[in-house]
Amino acid sequence: MLLISGTIFAQDPAKYQFAPCGTLPTVAPMLQTYQEHPERFVTERSTDTLKVALQLHLVAKNNGIGRIGTDRLLDAFCQLNQDYAPSSIRFYSKHDWHLIDSTVWYQHDTIPAGIDMMLSNNVDDALNIYFVSSSAGNCGYNLPYGGVAMNNSCAGPSDHTWAHEIGHALSLPHPFLGWEGKTYSPSNPTPDTLTYNYTHFHDTLDLVPAPLDTTVSERLNGSNCAVAADRICDTQADYLSYRWECNSENQSIAVQTDLNGETFRSDGTLIMSYAADGCQSRFSNDQISIMRATLETEKQAWLTTDPPGPDLSQPVTLLFPINQQQTPPIGAQVQWTSVPGATHYLIQVSVLQSYILKAVDMVVTDTTLILSDLQPDKKYYWRVRPFNNWSFCAPFTASGVFNTTSLVATEEPENEGWSCYPTILNEGQFLSLELPAKWVGHPVQYALYDVAGRMLWQQSTQATYYQTVLQPRVERLPAGIYRLQATGATGMKWQTLVVE
Ligand SMILES: [Zn+2]
Repeated sequence: MLLISGTIFAQDPAKYQFAPCGTLPTVAPMLQTYQEHPERFVTERSTDTLKVALQLHLVAKNNGIGRIGTDRLLDAFCQLNQDYAPSSIRFYSKHDWHLIDSTVWYQHDTIPAGIDMMLSNNVDDALNIYFVSSSAGNCGYNLPYGGVAMNNSCAGPSDHTWAHEIGHALSLPHPFLGWEGKTYSPSNPTPDTLTYNYTHFHDTLDLVPAPLDTTVSERLNGSNCAVAADRICDTQADYLSYRWECNSENQSIAVQTDLNGETFRSDGTLIMSYAADGCQSRFSNDQISIMRATLETEKQAWLTTDPPGPDLSQPVTLLFPINQQQTPPIGAQVQWTSVPGATHYLIQVSVLQSYILKAVDMVVTDTTLILSDLQPDKKYYWRVRPFNNWSFCAPFTASGVFNTTSLVATEEPENEGWSCYPTILNEGQFLSLELPAKWVGHPVQYALYDVAGRMLWQQSTQATYYQTVLQPRVERLPAGIYRLQATGATGMKWQTLVVE
């Protein structure tokens, strides 16, 4: 069982406080190859789905507080794969999520601190992704030799930052390459060339201070598209290096003028632009070809041919407690159905229907959980979301509702520790049992008898906890009186039950 977090979350700063991306301009080797033979990239492109290994590192403060919420992470992973679906590239989680507790990495202010984080924790044969609270003042950045740092505030169900940073990791620059750190103004003449600094963003770790390179300013008519800016010809000229809003056609509000005197608006649909998330939706055809070629050559180690896990198609059904059933505040057991292919379940419990505050927010591999510490006399909501290392988009169940009893009303189990409730059963209802401590860890047999002594139902289980839940298929039984027999490690217990 993997405990992800408790009730307290550090408040993440708002997204608008961060620069869109801290990846500095660089021309990846794959991009130079593309520039020499652009035709080869498109015609030789395969159509297979490329399955790409990610290693997720979820960073919190030293005390374990502040880690990205699991539901937010699942939403972001789902959005990432939707953004890459037209590219036939799909990402999966290769190993268990790596939990890191380090305040200096969680809130790192400089790229060198991020380099230290990555080189201390990276695993081989996967693209390493770090979720932090502050990634050197940016929503995210990619280091070619390190990995991707993601700001938790910029990873949500409608954010494209993760897709953007992975675009960098797969050789794509910004369409406005050269303008990073500069602000275009229509009142200044557009320059011929742009000098840029790519310290830390070489292909290899190299601490030469401030290496400089020069690119030429891209013209709208495409005449220099193969040598200007991102060198990709189906991404048009773009000079905007700040987060910008778009019009109803997803173009920039800002109008720019190229060296030929032609005016244009930037294309906000491109995920590699700095358009607001609501404008972004796609990679260009050439960008897709470059990313796929990168994966099939220099990043081949990230690919797998085996399907990592099945897609989840069936929903979870909440079994118990639902429909305002009563549970003890301490030691209540919840149970739900398993889903074929699901390896993990996120369970959330809250007194609020919005789940803004969560009493429980856990990832478990089982389909049952003992809730150790709820408040008495409260109405609680709970829900479950299944996932595996490949399928992150399954929704939460609708909420189940239950009520905790008061502490006083919680009857102490009899001396030896045995109780069974409720004793009056309606159709489909569950029986909650508390077992003698000596029975735990041993097999227990249950049997249900009618008044004539005929055995109608039986079940054998291992008593994992001192509490368990039974569903003795009461809907098939006529109304009347029955006897439940439980046989454990040190004896036998009886309970009379009434079926209504
Ligand atoms: Zn970027």
